[in-house]
Amino acid sequence: IGAAGAVTAGCVGMVLVQRRRVLASLPQQIRRAVSLGRLTMAYQPLVRLSDRRMVGVEALARLTDDRGRPIPPDIFIAIAEEKGFIGVVTRKVISLTLTQMRGRLTGDEAFDVHINFAVTDLLDDRLLTYLDGEVSRLGISPARVVIELTERSTAEHDRLREAVETLRRRGYKFFIDDFGTGYSNLAYLARLPINGIKMDKMFTKAIGKAAASSAIVDTICATARSLNVELVAEGVEEPEQAARILELFPRAVGQGWLFGKPVPAEHL
Ligand code: C2E
Ligand code: CA
Ligand code: CA
Ligand code: CA
Repeated sequence: IGAAGAVTAGCVGMVLVQRRRVLASLPQQIRRAVSLGRLTMAYQPLVRLSDRRMVGVEALARLTDDRGRPIPPDIFIAIAEEKGFIGVVTRKVISLTLTQMRGRLTGDEAFDVHINFAVTDLLDDRLLTYLDGEVSRLGISPARVVIELTERSTAEHDRLREAVETLRRRGYKFFIDDFGTGYSNLAYLARLPINGIKMDKMFTKAIGKAAASSAIVDTICATARSLNVELVAEGVEEPEQAARILELFPRAVGQGWLFGKPVPAEHL
């Protein structure tokens, strides 16, 4: 949260100089848009590299401002966290996503939906109760629902570990998002009951570029192997990147423009 807060503060500060009026109300615009039901979802395919099958999607929130222009998700999510209403956003995301993906989530084919949580969401018992309620109301197995938490927010914390353990006990899966960007303690991560990691797109981009950055990709794949967890590579844009990751981690799943951009449910 600290890092995300600093980034938003920086961006907002920069733009504030030019457009004080509009931006003073950005958090209010966001809050209003969410409460008026203007939050929508886009879904991006998760593709198993070995056979190019879509094995799931990541649910990504979308929001427009008062004039209908899209607000970048990085910005509105960080502001919602800062202003303390991220829980409201996450509830809408859960409800829309489970409803829109219900058909695939209750089908016979393996298909998981990845939902992003803020660390405060994970520590919020009422949100987990809400998720349980929606999942059972819609007849979805919790094992089809993957909670993603960005590595930057995985501070060593007993409460966080307990929350992840509770999620797992109730049958949900848990992934560390943006792996490689958080400098977290690997020994601590190894003790978290995680199902998988998502390698941040900055590392995927480095494949075939500088030797040093490519070595980090090898290390991340080796880490996934040694933790015995699943691996999703983000930001796959080039066939060469998919090929290299497949070589290093045969069970890897890829996400990126090579396979598909985030789209509304009906265009999946
Ligand atoms: P993220 O979780 O790392 O999501 C992946 C981001 O990478 C998405 O950006 C996606 O559009 C983008 N992406 C996917 N494939 C490619 C590619 O091949 N190349 C490039 N250059 N980019 C690619 P998006 O949708 O702008 O989301 C940004 C961030 O906003 C997300 O990063 C996530 O941290 C946050 N976010 C989005 N929706 C939610 C949400 O519902 N809840 C929470 N808590 N955070 C969310
Ligand atoms: Ca994510
Ligand atoms: Ca990510
Ligand atoms: Ca990322």
